[in-house]
Amino acid sequence: MLAFVAIMQAQQAPPDLILSNGKIITVDERFTIAQAVAIQGGRVVAVGSNQAIAQLAGPNTRRIDLMGKAVIPGLIDNHMHLLRAATTWLRELRFDGVNSRQQAVAMLRARAQAVGPGEWVYNIGGWTHQQFTDDPKPFTREELDKIAPDNPVSLQESYYQVFLNSRALQALGIEANAPDPAGFVKGTIMRDASGKPTGVIRGDIPATRPVAAKLPKVAPEHLEESSRALLQDMNRAGLTSVGVPGCIADVLEIFQKWKAQGQLNVRTFCIDGAAGANPEQVDRALEQIPKIKLFQGDSYIDNIFFGESVYGPLHDPMFATKSDPTAEQLAQWRRMAMEIAKAGLPLHVHAELHDTIDAFLDQIEAINKEHPIKSLRWTLAHINQINAQQLDRMKNLGMYAAVHPWAVINGAIMHDEFGDGAYDMPPLRTIQNSGIQWGFGTDGTAANQYRPFTTLYFAVTGKMTGGAKVNRQTISREDALIAYTRKNAYLVFQEDNLGSIQPGKLADLLVLDRDYLTVPADDIAKIKPVMTMLGGRIVYDASVAAQAAK
Ligand SMILES: [Zn+2]
Repeated sequence: MLAFVAIMQAQQAPPDLILSNGKIITVDERFTIAQAVAIQGGRVVAVGSNQAIAQLAGPNTRRIDLMGKAVIPGLIDNHMHLLRAATTWLRELRFDGVNSRQQAVAMLRARAQAVGPGEWVYNIGGWTHQQFTDDPKPFTREELDKIAPDNPVSLQESYYQVFLNSRALQALGIEANAPDPAGFVKGTIMRDASGKPTGVIRGDIPATRPVAAKLPKVAPEHLEESSRALLQDMNRAGLTSVGVPGCIADVLEIFQKWKAQGQLNVRTFCIDGAAGANPEQVDRALEQIPKIKLFQGDSYIDNIFFGESVYGPLHDPMFATKSDPTAEQLAQWRRMAMEIAKAGLPLHVHAELHDTIDAFLDQIEAINKEHPIKSLRWTLAHINQINAQQLDRMKNLGMYAAVHPWAVINGAIMHDEFGDGAYDMPPLRTIQNSGIQWGFGTDGTAANQYRPFTTLYFAVTGKMTGGAKVNRQTISREDALIAYTRKNAYLVFQEDNLGSIQPGKLADLLVLDRDYLTVPADDIAKIKPVMTMLGGRIVYDASVAAQAAK
């Protein structure tokens, strides 16, 4: 029986809401488990035993009986391209969490019917065919023609390849016996011996992007509806906060409006700033960087980092096995990063391949001597190829790690591309054991799927979506959860407000349909929030959602 009760010091009004009879996994520094939590004015005011919390109730206190359910802090993804996703979300047919090919085909058929002849049916990443447990095989042009003969269909697997049907090839101007249309990288349009396009476009980001760029986005008048559907899906998946590379202005405007109305359902922390693509652009960027003002917002929307790219030519692709940064490129990178340090800005930078990480650390060590970065929370992002020595160098610099395991969907492809080394990409246990401060993200919604319980399942089992074992550096459930909550609160500069269920922090929490700490490891990906709360407000309620679906 738990006898303690932690209460805020100040005398205050009785709680608005009490959740009791639960298993409150607080994720505080001691990983305390409690029974009940009291919330007032959007913040947690007390955590403790049923009895102690019940005593705080006033005449108007609302109560929710958790009936034994587990509660965890709202999950934070430190790096997801959330606002970009809003521009396509309503039009995309997402395969996140769809582990049956048969189901995916049924979804394709239904979507084609729903949108009508001639309209695009597409998705832009977030899945790979290896996630289908019933029949893990790619789609063919002929198959997609049969499923949706009257619609152009484009299905993008991560950034690896795109499957197109005949109508899509036609719409994109890709023909037999004709040169590739402008914008496509040579050799990325797959053709058979006779020159007929097979319907597959393959070759990392440069190959897939020309297709994505031609797909119709959500119309401006539907952007708000698309954003709402997106945030509802995030809340349903258990996300309450996201670090967002590239906060697109017209979507951010909608978020700002919702914030003013008290209706913003995902806290949004922007990672922004223009990278240089060549020396001339670096010249211009150097004038802009000193004018950048971060931290002008609040716990709903803020700008927190320069990122995620510093110098375009040193932005590692996803499936390259090796990089070779040149002295000239690094000199440009250093000009940018030096100015960012001088301006006192936090930096969150894309760094993936082993040699790129070494080269960046060389530069940062030099910069640090002139403009110390110790208090700036400089962060390397993705780092699937990092090693123990590099983690030590980062620690000595006072840096942080934003870990985005692309293997959650790409695991099988990575084993083809990188061989056995893929078992250590990312080296989660090495990162955990290094003692560096690190947090989880996905890099969704194109590079990866977005659902946090799928990433937690990967972290604990080493298995990708679909169940194949692709990583040997598993970590404990507790460490994985800490990296998705308390550690990430730090990585989005909200450690005083978010990341644990403790007096004084904002009441962002999830009530789960099963206990994260005791459910069989293979079932972690199946965990669903029955309720998601943000600042004491219920933003997702599974029973209400089920009613609405009827
Ligand atoms: Zn990136």
